[in-house]
Amino acid sequence: SSTVITIDGPAASGKSSVARILAQRLGYIYVNTGNMYRAMTWAVLQTGIDPNDQDAVRQAAAGIVVDSPVTEGQTQVSISGRILSAEDLNSDPVNRGVSLVARVPEVRSRLVADQRALADLGPLVMEGRDIGSVVFPESPLKFYIDASEEVRAARRSAQGHTDQVAERDRLDSTRKTSPLVIPEGAVVIDNSHLTLEGAVQAVLDRLPP
Ligand code: C5P
Repeated sequence: SSTVITIDGPAASGKSSVARILAQRLGYIYVNTGNMYRAMTWAVLQTGIDPNDQDAVRQAAAGIVVDSPVTEGQTQVSISGRILSAEDLNSDPVNRGVSLVARVPEVRSRLVADQRALADLGPLVMEGRDIGSVVFPESPLKFYIDASEEVRAARRSAQGHTDQVAERDRLDSTRKTSPLVIPEGAVVIDNSHLTLEGAVQAVLDRLPP
């Protein structure tokens, strides 16, 4: 399968913007795996289930398929043929529920399989929490984008939902299956004081010629 540049990091580190621009620059497909977990969460919530109920989530999720069609160089997410909008994916209920859905091992194993299959489409920039550690651990092109607590707190409040983001980080780093870690061999980029262009350049500088 093709080249995959993996980008992991906590919420509000700026990794999504870096990954998107990098993919455009290289002509690779941009894959935001957070949106796949968000789509699954949106569909689970449609069934009326409380995301705290892990058994109910596991059962509901078994009947839900998240498709990832590619449009204009990036994957969208769709459920039963409906492409979900940014509003659907970033609603308050989804923000509150996504880390609870994402900690269910069966949800992760299915989405990880879907993510691996995307490499058949061509070279990818794939961004998330476990891409370098679990999804493509053999990739030689792994990055971890971090930022200081202060800078991330400022980005969080600019995005609203301060408490929800902090709580997601807590759940994501402490869950049993595939917690957020710096993948072995990843280049760590501190994005606290870089511009978007500077952070993209920092990644480009570390790619082989
Ligand atoms: O990237 P984003 O912040 O939109 O991700 C939303 C949530 O999806 C994360 O807080 C995490 O719970 C989950 N996620 C994950 N593994 C990934 C990507 C996202 O568990 N690879």
